[in-house]
Amino acid sequence: MKKFLLAVLAVIMMVNIALAEEGALSIPFATIGEAMASDGYTGIAGGDDNHFVAVLELDGIYFRVVADMDDEARRLSQATLEHTGADALEAAFAEYNAYTQTLPVSYEEEITAQPMPQEELDALVGKTLQEVEDAGFESSSSRMDVDDAAVYTVSCGLYEYDLLLNETYTEYMEHNDNGFIGDLTVKSASVAGLSHNAAELRFHADGTYDEENDPWAEYTKLMEIITHALSAENPEEAIQELVEAMPEKAEEIRMLADVFASMSSMIGQDENSGTDTESAAQSEDPFYIAPISDETFARIYGKSFKEDCTLSREDLRYLHVLHVDLDGAVHEGEMIVNYHIAEDVLEILRQLYEANYPIERMRLVDEYDADDELSMEDNNSSSFNFRFISHTTRVSKHGLGLAVDINTLYNPYTKIVDGVRIVEPVTGEPYLDRDADFPYKIDHEDLCYRLFIEHGFEWGGDWEDRKDYQHFEIPTSVIAEWYPENQ
Ligand SMILES: [Zn+2]
Repeated sequence: MKKFLLAVLAVIMMVNIALAEEGALSIPFATIGEAMASDGYTGIAGGDDNHFVAVLELDGIYFRVVADMDDEARRLSQATLEHTGADALEAAFAEYNAYTQTLPVSYEEEITAQPMPQEELDALVGKTLQEVEDAGFESSSSRMDVDDAAVYTVSCGLYEYDLLLNETYTEYMEHNDNGFIGDLTVKSASVAGLSHNAAELRFHADGTYDEENDPWAEYTKLMEIITHALSAENPEEAIQELVEAMPEKAEEIRMLADVFASMSSMIGQDENSGTDTESAAQSEDPFYIAPISDETFARIYGKSFKEDCTLSREDLRYLHVLHVDLDGAVHEGEMIVNYHIAEDVLEILRQLYEANYPIERMRLVDEYDADDELSMEDNNSSSFNFRFISHTTRVSKHGLGLAVDINTLYNPYTKIVDGVRIVEPVTGEPYLDRDADFPYKIDHEDLCYRLFIEHGFEWGGDWEDRKDYQHFEIPTSVIAEWYPENQ
């Protein structure tokens, strides 16, 4: 997201820069729009308030074309900065972009640097992504799936290279969620084309970087500071502090903060991928997924995360949500689930909250010393609690974090064993009559039931030999694929 904002803002930033002298070659395009619409346009462009740059390929030679901004383009650029509201910004951008496309182009310079020869790229095969990075390649943002293999794009100098990984995209994402992709390995490498760097003004045509004359450096820094301030708990206060610290930049800071905020609302909120605890914690969205931090691990180790736990900490995710009780009071909720279902459970809990579906309590079972009975008697909703299925070496579904219990007191578990009815929690006995009317009751008409079923869960209330009205779980056949060793 930040990169995207930087890229878009790069077009409208106010910087002064001396461009290299025009070359002698002429090109068969009259306007920057024509050039960008040509077959040779490589899809990358950059600019400032004096120039607009595109990279083109003609007959195997890459070169940059430049349109000089005129007064009208500057006026429109200014208008995008003076917008009021997201709609106005969008309209101003559209007008600005349409106008700059008609500006006449001139040839700037030829890009003579060649991509790395295939023999050198072949040497990357079998290396880990960490080793690739150590060799000077930078990761790039584009990734996709090709023939069941993840494609990881890296850049080096002016070129980008596609690395086909030995791992599938799903595996790639799992590693990414766990915060480390450096151990993934390269199956093949090929030239992808010019990188974004090729259009950026600070780069010379030979791919070298002119740090001293980098016109973006100051702005990049300023934008980073502003982005950081906007992610603070109280963004307005944080921006005000910035303005006081840098009074000479007050106007710019306010303008940029305004543009950032409008763009965020235009594009949507930052994704909460759960790959980054910090960004998740800083996010304003109270519904988020985070890895098991050291702090959380300290809370669960020896309790729900038993010493003989066969899962790794990386299999689990911490969910932070809001929920409402019967009186409509809003509470913060916490739950630990398996990473396979983290997104689904977060979505379900979000929808329940938005529908004012009452959930009384959602604390980690560790607050009850991982004692299920105590947690259930307190009507606590939870998921992960490691245990083996009695007399087996198989881990239970709660032990895998692949089952969720909701409003446990009012939706008890019951089974007849040797002619004796067992109820868990024991205090849930009054709620065994499912025809009776009482709060927090889960049945087939229930929103909670519908949402879990929609997300691929099974309901314990549908079982024949026993009933577990509080319980939603991932089907055994699905778990067999995720944890084949647990059969
Ligand atoms: Zn359960």
